[in-house]
Amino acid sequence: MIASGFSAPPLPALLLIGFFLYVETHFRIGRLPSRYFRRQPEILFDIPHRVAPGADLPLLLIIKDADRYPVELNDISVDIKQEGKILSTTRLPLGDERVDQPLWWRRFPLIVRGFEGEVTVEPMLTGRCSGRALEVRVDNYPTLSHAPLNCRLDRDQLPGAERWLYGDLHYHSHLTSDQVEFGAPPAAAAAMAAAMGLDFFAVTDHSYDLDDRWDDYLHNDEELAKWKWLQDFVREWNGGGRHPLIIPGEELSAGNSRGGNVHFLLYNEPSFFPGWGDSAEKWLQTKPQWTIRKVLDQLSPQALAFAGHAESAPPRLQRLFLGRDHWRAADYEHPRLDGVQMWNRLRDPAFSRGLAAWQKLLLAGRRPVLIGGNDAHGDFGRWRQISLPFVSLKEKEEHLFGQVRTGIIRPAGTATLPDLLHSLRAGRCLVTSGPSLWLELITETGPPCTPGDTCTGAPRKLHIAADSTPAFGPLARVTLCIGDLQRKKETRRPLPIGPAGSMNLTLDEPARELPGQGYLRLEVSSDREGTPFHCFSNPIYLAWR
Ligand SMILES: [Zn+2]
Ligand SMILES: [Zn+2]
Repeated sequence: MIASGFSAPPLPALLLIGFFLYVETHFRIGRLPSRYFRRQPEILFDIPHRVAPGADLPLLLIIKDADRYPVELNDISVDIKQEGKILSTTRLPLGDERVDQPLWWRRFPLIVRGFEGEVTVEPMLTGRCSGRALEVRVDNYPTLSHAPLNCRLDRDQLPGAERWLYGDLHYHSHLTSDQVEFGAPPAAAAAMAAAMGLDFFAVTDHSYDLDDRWDDYLHNDEELAKWKWLQDFVREWNGGGRHPLIIPGEELSAGNSRGGNVHFLLYNEPSFFPGWGDSAEKWLQTKPQWTIRKVLDQLSPQALAFAGHAESAPPRLQRLFLGRDHWRAADYEHPRLDGVQMWNRLRDPAFSRGLAAWQKLLLAGRRPVLIGGNDAHGDFGRWRQISLPFVSLKEKEEHLFGQVRTGIIRPAGTATLPDLLHSLRAGRCLVTSGPSLWLELITETGPPCTPGDTCTGAPRKLHIAADSTPAFGPLARVTLCIGDLQRKKETRRPLPIGPAGSMNLTLDEPARELPGQGYLRLEVSSDREGTPFHCFSNPIYLAWR
């Protein structure tokens, strides 16, 4: 991000923490001590937090900065346990392989067919580093627990998988690499996505990371080698008919109506938009390069633009020193904005505010498509983060890739990237952390309407379905929300969910008292032993009178 030969002021970069990462531990300020600095590469194992029935469990090993601290890998042994009992032990000899690249990764498929439920996975790597024996249990991050990784071997497909393609629309890859964090390559994420039962994901690295040099995050690359690499990789991947589909993207920093830096998710944009207002690369230079309006005026026709984690208020220090802000009412006005990412991790405190802002837009007659993502950087089964710079790290099972999913109505036949993008733009979508739904409006004339459609015939009947699985618990609430554009009001109609413990519901309702101009949407919640999961459809729009 730095235009010329100055080194980045380190302090502002550390303000970026509070975002979500595999931790980079080698960054120090001069000779100041760091409690988690080691003369070893970062070595970490990761696994998907969920494995779909029939899939192998991909064990991911990532080694970072081995060009500075080369290692020799002897072998890996992995115990998979359930309730403390060993289900399997696997030994993976690595032939004393030498690793000396800046970023090295490999995936080891573990066979878990025949097992189901919650398991723990405990990988242990032995090797050598600068002449000394090395033993890494789960990861070599000082101050972290090295506790076994948790995974659910699901007996069931994701709820509604026969009707919806599921994916994660906000993910950072290894193209993000700086003083505090790095992500996992798209091919590694693809293996994880496939094991989790996902059909697609978007790679949305920051504009201020995509223009860095491969070998030096402190300097910009005029050739844009990283950004070009991503375009080529995705084209080749999708062109080869591989699964899951990858959506090329960018998380652009741009200026909102108050001059603050906000994040913009651009999908399938064929040119690169630079933006470094909140990159922390130049001390207190936080002026955005673009306004939201300008970006949307210049966007290519094939690109989609969504407000990124739109209503998440940044922490005070980031507001102050990075000029970060969140999206404001005036920022949603441009008609070229396709939608809003209001859900940015499983337990997202900003999501209820986001839903309220979305509902306001709907009642004003706008049609922004609601999507969700996790803002994961790697982070397939464990999220590791700097807690206190140079002192401690922390870990959680949050912000995990694929936890919040966007569902797109499954087309007949195999979906292509253009199919996905077309349906996403049209709002043939839902967002969910668990359960699924179906909403269909049958009219006097024309074919039935589903989310994203505009219904112009007189409504006759509603067909409603809700589905969950034991992984997400029985249905707890199903609510039909009816928006009336004339009265500027949304009415919520709770629907009967049947006997306690029901996992599935189908209902045919007469479509009575529906406004002539408005919308219909459905919300479904489930509950697994006190843990809630939610699903929200995008609207069917009403324009029949
Ligand atoms: Zn962001
Ligand atoms: Zn992000």
